[in-house]
Amino acid sequence: MSDTTLTIIKPDAFGSGKAGRILAHLEQEGFEIVAARVTHLGVAEAGEFYAVHRERPFFGSLVEFMTSGRCMPIVLRRENAVAHLRRVIGATDPTEAEEGTVRAIYAESKERNAIHASDSDENAAVEVSFFFPGTDLI
Ligand code: ATP
Ligand code: MG
Repeated sequence: MSDTTLTIIKPDAFGSGKAGRILAHLEQEGFEIVAARVTHLGVAEAGEFYAVHRERPFFGSLVEFMTSGRCMPIVLRRENAVAHLRRVIGATDPTEAEEGTVRAIYAESKERNAIHASDSDENAAVEVSFFFPGTDLI
């Protein structure tokens, strides 16, 4: 059970000035910020990050969205980080997200849904290295 996970404040939320409030929400949930950067993803980079969705009908639109502006990848630490962050962000579609979750509060739509979170310990390790190469997860 990994204590480290990766989140991204996506371009919709970052571009509309919600990063500070989202970070406060995550800190209130007991997450410590281990590393953070602000970046503007290129098409190849966004496509590689979401490669698992390459065959999905929404892939092109997702890449367009993720490259539409700056975003903020962040490494977070907390006990049971991966599972807890998934609970805190809520369902992919904000209309289905539980009240009080980050997506219920800040997401605009199923695509423009404010925040990413790693979905397994294995993917957390891969995603942390993707944005923060050389970061020691231990
Ligand atoms: P993320 O991986 O960003 O944390 P998730 O795990 O909740 O989100 P995924 O199924 O992995 O959801 O989809 C990745 C992202 O692709 C979603 O967060 C959303 O931005 C977009 N997406 C997913 N499904 C759809 C859809 N049906 N229509 C439009 N966009 C979608
Ligand atoms: Mg996902």
